[in-house]
Order: sequence, then structure tokens, then C-alpha cells
Amino acid sequence: MRIFRLFYLLINIFILQLIQVAHAETEQVIRQGGLYLEEISEKDSQMHIMHDSNRLTTVEFNQKYYLLYGIPYNTKIGAHTVEVTANNQKRFIRMNLKSKKFDTQYIKIANKYISPSTNTLSRIEKERANISRAKEMWLNSNPDIKFIKPVDGITTGTYGTKRFYNNEEGNYHNGLDIAAPTGTHILSPSSGKVILTGDYYYNGKFIYLDHGKGLKSIFIHLDKILVETGQIITKGEVIGKVGNSGASAGPHLHWSVMLNKTYIDPEIFLNHRIIRYFSLED
Ligand SMILES: [Zn+2]
Repeated sequence: MRIFRLFYLLINIFILQLIQVAHAETEQVIRQGGLYLEEISEKDSQMHIMHDSNRLTTVEFNQKYYLLYGIPYNTKIGAHTVEVTANNQKRFIRMNLKSKKFDTQYIKIANKYISPSTNTLSRIEKERANISRAKEMWLNSNPDIKFIKPVDGITTGTYGTKRFYNNEEGNYHNGLDIAAPTGTHILSPSSGKVILTGDYYYNGKFIYLDHGKGLKSIFIHLDKILVETGQIITKGEVIGKVGNSGASAGPHLHWSVMLNKTYIDPEIFLNHRIIRYFSLED
């Protein structure tokens, strides 16, 4: 009996360790497409902290102040230094990037998205210029980093996946895909301001939201846009409906998140992962 109990105990410890390993892997935030966070003084939080002519995000959370840096997808694994300037003084952010294995996905889309006509190319160029302008905008309000999931659905694409479209290698996947029936409500994951909407060649109907201080979200392939440029949005507000517009292979929401004009993994903001990972709450 005692031996059996010991065996039972050992099995339990083993399972617990497995869970902890799995937890540590999914929780890893300082990695490609992840983010770096550091506590700073209130005075520093009001400065323009710049990297490569991009202003970095600062956040006030529970009466403390933090600097956030979105780690680009192509950053090398291991020791990494980011040079920033604040009030013309150089500073260095040092981090140790952990590796993360990204999946590969094969997707079928209409051929017109693989080789657009000359007329369409000029349209795409104009649309890219509008998106670039939206990326440049700065809203000086404190972002709410406790995000909620914008759509209740099935995850069909994660950040960082290497993608092949009709067997041709395309860009890495820069957001999170959540499949749900056409017409499903899209909730704003956090408060913000609508900085751009449209019906673009690749994006289809989309909404660009500024959550404040360089933290932004884009929602694409919508069926309906229910907000207007300039509108102030509260967290949880219905902003649009899930669809299949643009270069999409079925009804789903594609949601991308950006910090310092860099696409990072939206899942870092879900389930309060960022709060837990950096122990921002007691
Ligand atoms: Zn997607």
C-alpha cells in the first residue's frame, strides 16, 4: 500500500513538472515577436524615448511606470542590446532572447492576390502609404494593457508562422487568426481611438485602432465596419463583424498588435500574460 502511495506521489510530481515546463514555454515573452518591459521613473515616462526614430511606448500601471519595447520577428536569439536615446542621452536596453519554434502553414488563396495586375499594384501602393501614415500617428493617452479576446472562436493561425500561399513562400504571419462565423461581433480588446478604416485589396474591410502611446491593433478581413475614423472606443465595445473580405481563405478575424511600429504576438496581451510574466500585480 505504501509503495503504491509513493508511486502515486511520484507520478503526480512528474505530471506537475510537465505542466510547469509547458507553462514556461507558452509564457516566454522575451523572444522574437515578444516584448521587453522595464520599470522606469515617472519623469522618464514623460520623455521621448527613441529607438531608430521610433518612439517607444511607456505605460502607467498600478501607479508604476514602464518602458515597453516590441522585439522584431527577425531579431537573433541570445544576448541582444537595443540602443535608445532619451533627452539626447544614449541608453542601452539589454535582454536575452529565448528561442521559440514557429510552425509552417500552407494556404490556398485566389491567384489575383499572388500576382496582382499593374492597375491593382498602384492601388496597393496607395493603400500601403495610408497604412504607413497610420503607423506614424501618436496618441498621447495611457494604454490599457489588460486586453480581452476580440472574438470568441477557434485559433487557426498564430503569430510567427512561416506561410506558403499556393505553395509560394510569403511573409511570416504577423498576427492571430480567430475563425468564427461571418457576422460574429468583434469586440475591442482594449480602449483606443479609430485612426483608419477602409476596404483594401489585401486587408479587405479593416479597422486600425490606436490604444495609446504607440500600442496599436489592426483588425482585417471584416464583413462590416461599425466604427468611424476619429471615434473613441471603450474596451469590449463592438467595432465590427467577422468576415472573409480581402485575401482571406474563410471567415475569420486577423488581429495584429504593434509596438514601436513592430508587429508582435497579440497573445502576449491575452489572459493577462504580460501582467503575470512581469509580475506587475501583487
Ligand atoms: Zn492572419
